[in-house]
Amino acid sequence: MWLVMWSGMEGRRPAVVLPTSTVIVQPSPFCNIDCDYCYLPARLDRTRMSMESVRSIVQFLFGVTEFAPVVDVAWHAGEPLVVPRSFYRAAFAEFARLSDRGVRCVHQFQTNGTLITEAWCEFMREHTMLIGLSIDGPAELHDRHRKDRYGRGTFNRAMAGAKLLAKSGIEFSVTSVLTVDSLMRPDLVCDWIEECGITSIGFNVEEIEGAHLTSTLAGDDATALYRQFFSTLYEFTKTHPEVRIREIVDSRNLLLRPTSCSFVNGENALGSILNFDVNGRVSTFSPELLSIAPTSRYRSFTWAHVTEDDFSTFVERVTGSAFYEDLAVGVAACARECEYFGVCGGGAPGNKFSELGTVTGTETMTCRLRVKTLMDVMAGVLEREGEQSHRHIRGRAPSRQQRVAEPHGRG
Ligand code: SF4
Repeated sequence: MWLVMWSGMEGRRPAVVLPTSTVIVQPSPFCNIDCDYCYLPARLDRTRMSMESVRSIVQFLFGVTEFAPVVDVAWHAGEPLVVPRSFYRAAFAEFARLSDRGVRCVHQFQTNGTLITEAWCEFMREHTMLIGLSIDGPAELHDRHRKDRYGRGTFNRAMAGAKLLAKSGIEFSVTSVLTVDSLMRPDLVCDWIEECGITSIGFNVEEIEGAHLTSTLAGDDATALYRQFFSTLYEFTKTHPEVRIREIVDSRNLLLRPTSCSFVNGENALGSILNFDVNGRVSTFSPELLSIAPTSRYRSFTWAHVTEDDFSTFVERVTGSAFYEDLAVGVAACARECEYFGVCGGGAPGNKFSELGTVTGTETMTCRLRVKTLMDVMAGVLEREGEQSHRHIRGRAPSRQQRVAEPHGRG
């Protein structure tokens, strides 16, 4: 966790560049399936990144001011397995040159699983990759939204990929998108996790972002459903401690961390995440910004090109942009007004822009669910279990110790 003070930054542009810990690379925008909530506008575009671009990305990265000791390199923003293994073999060799900067790269695929073969498993094992598999729960939930271009559900093909990974001894983490359908059936999700022996899973919400302009979670009932969903999943983890649910583990860690330990949200911190699109354009902050059309005020969400610009030029352009100025205003407003700032850090600019049309704003549908509701659920269960989890949320009920000190019989 890194410390940056945004509070009171309105009107000023903090030239704080954080160590880079995540690099997102788009090997192709193409995807072989067609989920109805996908935010990518160009998922029929079969353009592939050239090896020349990969070399230029690595060269660009040599100019980065500071890295985290381990850098996650996620091949994403399209289905990564539509690009051949020969490309990745050569690309990984290029990235290995960063060891000269003392950087260890860990490569990741976030895949829909339908193209996994034994040969891919062999490749993933050979390169000790991290694998994220997108499956939305049992067929009844998954196939409603994750369809191919013929309108057929992809559950069986995704699960075949999961089975191949398991047979090859490759650990993977599941990512599920929560729609209102899945929020209404936490029982089905828990049964499916148990039946499939899933040990690591994270839940994204169906976001209003990029090409996806609406969400089934935009209704008033989503908050109560979300609360119920995670309350059920928390109970499930008590009888299934081998299952790691990302939201539960991460929120617990955030709530129970020492008060001296600040939290910075990498999605609104310059340099923490660097994003490269298929054509070599460079962005930072939320990876989804790569796929969002510019406006008259935010004339671009990419600020450099790897063949023409270096990192310091990139930083100069970002810090001189209207987007950066507005981002500081939005994060400062969050710091001032929102009691959850200590566990959120001011939100994701990709969500703010897509939902509010500006990054100067504060609350979004996404943060209402993923931050506020989740933290309320977790703070509640932790406090019932005797933990003082309120300390990073302003305005929450007094701690258990304080309540014990009060005279009995009130309210
Ligand atoms: S929860 Fe929402 S409103 Fe609160 S700090 Fe985060 S983004 Fe801002």
